[in-house]
Amino acid sequence: MVRVVSGLLAVAILSGCFPHGPRLGEPRAQELTLGTARFRIVYFPEDAAAARQVRSALEVAVPHLARWGGLRHPVTIRIHPTHEALEFAVGREGYDWLRAWAKFETIDVQSPRTWGLFGARARDLEELFTHELTHCVMYQLAGGELTWMYKEIPRWFSEGLATLTARQAYRYAPLEELYEFYEKSAGGAGYGDPSGARRSVAMMAQFGDPIVDPDPIYQDQWRIVYGAAHHAAEFLVARYGEGRVMEVMRLMGTGLRFPTAFQQAVGLTDGEFASDFRRFVVWQGWRRED
Ligand SMILES: [Zn+2]
Repeated sequence: MVRVVSGLLAVAILSGCFPHGPRLGEPRAQELTLGTARFRIVYFPEDAAAARQVRSALEVAVPHLARWGGLRHPVTIRIHPTHEALEFAVGREGYDWLRAWAKFETIDVQSPRTWGLFGARARDLEELFTHELTHCVMYQLAGGELTWMYKEIPRWFSEGLATLTARQAYRYAPLEELYEFYEKSAGGAGYGDPSGARRSVAMMAQFGDPIVDPDPIYQDQWRIVYGAAHHAAEFLVARYGEGRVMEVMRLMGTGLRFPTAFQQAVGLTDGEFASDFRRFVVWQGWRRED
């Protein structure tokens, strides 16, 4: 059995027949400049209309980046013809909800033509590019093309600032749902005493916590992970201001990693901040601030 399977795989690889590889003719490329932001859009011929949609979305997205200083390097946008092609390109499998992935100077995106029966709505695409380009801006501020991935930037910080910039709170878990998530995670730790449960939840940095340990729940509970990231970033900006957030990124750009940069710019460790945020959710500080 094993021999037959590996034989078939060998044939597939020798003939260049990758499982999700497109057979769609030669890719095309377009250059685009919007203010100081420069783009290269790469796509297959059947996505010519999708590429036009992407250009329009970029025109709306780029002005939102001014808040963080804008792009420093050109960004290449690769339009993949299917969801499988996107997953293949970014090395993830089983993320049905994934539509794009940003790195230092690239964004891989699933062709908006395939987002649904009628393709992607303009607003969804504008949001998506505002979000993804915020990642590029941050990575470009925080490091160079080889160093950005070693900065230990936590998911809540990068995703939170991206969803904040793209105003995407409505897509993810609201604070009420985060509160319920933490209450359930307490698992009766308070023995029926809600304040006890709250205390224990606020104290522990546990497995699958959406802020300090999101990876175990990222694939399936993405609404919670992104919701927590969004509200944590909002909490950070409300308490310490956007200037300090920029300072975190600027300090990373001088060579520091995230934990040190955060502590220097904000005045507490990111772990302490995560505990503060967890307390804010669990003790329902957000109800009083409504
Ligand atoms: Zn993101």
